Amino acid sequence: MEDNGRLTVIGAGPAGVGAAMAAARHGIDVTIYELAPRPGLKPCGWGIPDHRKKEIPIPRETILKEIDGAVLYVDGKHAIDYTGRGGPLGVVVDKPRMLETLLEDAGVKVVFRAPVSIPFGDGPAVAAVGVSWYEGEKINAVQVHLKAPKADREKLEFYFDSHLIGYYWVFPMGDGIVKVGVGGFAGMSELATKLERFIKRDPRLSGAPRVKPLHGAPLAVGGIKPRIIGSTVFTGESVGGVYPLTGEGIRPSFLLGKTVGEALALGRDPVKALMSSDTTWKIQLQRRILEMVKSLRPMRRAEFLSRLDPEVLVRIGLGDFSRLGLTAMVLKSPGILAQVIKRFLTK
Ligand SMILES: Cc1cc2nc3c(=O)[nH]c(=O)nc-3n(C[C@H](O)[C@H](O)[C@H](O)COP(=O)(O)OP(=O)(O)OC[C@H]3O[C@@H](n4cnc5c(N)ncnc54)[C@H](O)[C@@H]3O)c2cc1C
Repeated sequence: MEDNGRLTVIGAGPAGVGAAMAAARHGIDVTIYELAPRPGLKPCGWGIPDHRKKEIPIPRETILKEIDGAVLYVDGKHAIDYTGRGGPLGVVVDKPRMLETLLEDAGVKVVFRAPVSIPFGDGPAVAAVGVSWYEGEKINAVQVHLKAPKADREKLEFYFDSHLIGYYWVFPMGDGIVKVGVGGFAGMSELATKLERFIKRDPRLSGAPRVKPLHGAPLAVGGIKPRIIGSTVFTGESVGGVYPLTGEGIRPSFLLGKTVGEALALGRDPVKALMSSDTTWKIQLQRRILEMVKSLRPMRRAEFLSRLDPEVLVRIGLGDFSRLGLTAMVLKSPGILAQVIKRFLTK
């Protein structure tokens, strides 16, 4: 690597931490600049599925809750009750603590309260600066934290709304606290109104004390858009490191950060590495499916979701598939989804 083995990383979210850890592992001297006083402070549900694959080495002490499965409702009707096979399906973590611990363990220097301009100098740099730099399609998402012990279960709850093209969620955090939110193709204030209505309708949530008021942020759902300015390479959500169907961004952003950090450390082309990564491939498939779902009328959309095989829904939602697995899914999927997958596989 040029610049005497030094690398600057801008942003201490999952992508910046992934990039810094990967480069440090190859002996690179990494410094992160983060504008906030702690890492990972942006609005987020803190849910990480499929943690058993150890794509992120989550420190045990930062896990708030182990999740056994997920319950999905489509337009108010109970559709799927899914329990993970042979152990938890995922975890809810204390995200700032998780990122702090990972950085400490990797021995990476972090300068907090340090906004940096982009591009950063002449040396190699990674911009892991989040959604505000993303150039593709975005949705919005808002959430509140409630003290609602009856909703603090071992399952994630998803309430799909076919008119919104999005969903409400109830994520347990332990100690009787839940995060309740909604994300979709609507403005922030419309989503805030919808969320208040949703909370009012659920007896477990209505009237529950608010531990943290309503807050939100946009989410990148347009697929991967690589970007490089001078010698600063972008990664994470700033290039679309989010699964477009679910809005899950911690794991994909961390992995794309890792890919870019490792490529720079090894003197490889970081954009090529980003574009040929498994995570990018899966995000691009989800983007195609989202485009198809958007093109359906609300009634067809609800029908499509209700008819999906739960295993297919969960595997595609979690990005838990290989080329071979996808081919098998074609056989179990409704025609319209089978067509999208086939086209994706043969392009
Ligand atoms: C309401 C909501 C709920 C969500 N829930 C989940 C969930 O449960 N699970 C999940 O996987 N994903 C979830 N996401 C998505 C997830 O939060 C993001 O996709 C993920 O954090 C992106 O990681 P990142 O590192 O790319 O960007 P970020 O986490 O946004 O990190 C970017 C960092 O860069 C810093 N920064 C920006 N500009 C500068 C600068 N100029 N100088 C220095 N520092 C800078 C920022 O302060 C920030 O800390 C949710 C998103 C929203 C909006």
